[in-house]
Amino acid sequence: MERQSGAFECNVCAERHYSHTAMRGDGRRILFCASCGMGMIENPPADTSVFYQDGYYGGAAHLEVGYADYAFTAEHALLWARLLVQALIGGGRVLDVGCADGFMLRGLGAAYETYGIEVNAHAAERARQGGVTIIGNDVLADLRRDEFRRHFDVITSIATFEHVLDLRGAFRACLEALKPEGVLIFEIPLMSQTRDNKDWLEGSYEHIYYPTVRGIETLLGTFPGYSFTGFESDIKGYSSTYIGAVASDPGVFARVEHLFRCMRQDTPSGLNEQESNVNVAYQVVHSFRPSPERILALPPLIEKTCSPRLLTHLMQLWYADCTDAANAEWYKTQAANWKASFDNLQDVHSKQTRYLQALEESKKTDE
Ligand SMILES: [Zn+2]
Repeated sequence: MERQSGAFECNVCAERHYSHTAMRGDGRRILFCASCGMGMIENPPADTSVFYQDGYYGGAAHLEVGYADYAFTAEHALLWARLLVQALIGGGRVLDVGCADGFMLRGLGAAYETYGIEVNAHAAERARQGGVTIIGNDVLADLRRDEFRRHFDVITSIATFEHVLDLRGAFRACLEALKPEGVLIFEIPLMSQTRDNKDWLEGSYEHIYYPTVRGIETLLGTFPGYSFTGFESDIKGYSSTYIGAVASDPGVFARVEHLFRCMRQDTPSGLNEQESNVNVAYQVVHSFRPSPERILALPPLIEKTCSPRLLTHLMQLWYADCTDAANAEWYKTQAANWKASFDNLQDVHSKQTRYLQALEESKKTDE
């Protein structure tokens, strides 16, 4: 069913029709492009900066937009990206679009020149204090400057593109700011075909875009000369995201594809230490999927990047697993108890039945 909306125009393919809608928890509609499937909020605000004032990265109570505890979110959301950048390239210029307090960049090390774009002034100041060069607060305006043309080796954008008003423009600006052998790595919330999208529909009301796999692939296909790869990331207990990479140099693209495969493979066996760290950071720290093999591969990761936050995060996973195990044990005991009670009940019931039958028999005999 194809409907026309006067205001709708797809940012990716300029289609004027949408095929279906979804309702957000705040009562606003998301419209999905009839041609490419990209989702976008109906009547987006003209200016989004109001969303990112102080409080966005935590600190304010009952936030409907933003992150309740950014420091904690950062570890599981960004550690894989930092390790992936380090595995991709031993040094160079790295720009993080939506860098917040610079968590990802600050951990890269001295071989990297770190640059950030951040809309929240306080977060940007903390990043600056951590040694990050803040180039501005608006990806489109900042990267238009001549000095940043073909300037960066890597650009990362983790959970940022969904907030911009011009999604295609933001991707284009990033690609034009990359060196010919540069790479763009991004993660964006995904409207999944197979998994529950409730985390995107019932919160994060500052989001503008609601990408589908088809919408993202159509978008990335509009940049000639670039190859792209990506996948749906299924975070345990959470709605999906899409992790992707774009590059124009075939050798660099092959390297990032290889690292994505390492990151996603079931066990870290057969991987070198750097690849194994990316795998464990992605599977355990990012996606909450510990397995015996991944647990055994944790020590090199902890040695490389130990922090109280990481340990707290791992402790929570450990606690959740212990709770599951204890519950499983409890259910097993309960199941045995329930069976015994049931057997006992049946026993009583059959004794009663036999007694009543005998009573009937004796009455008959008496008559
Ligand atoms: Zn479209």
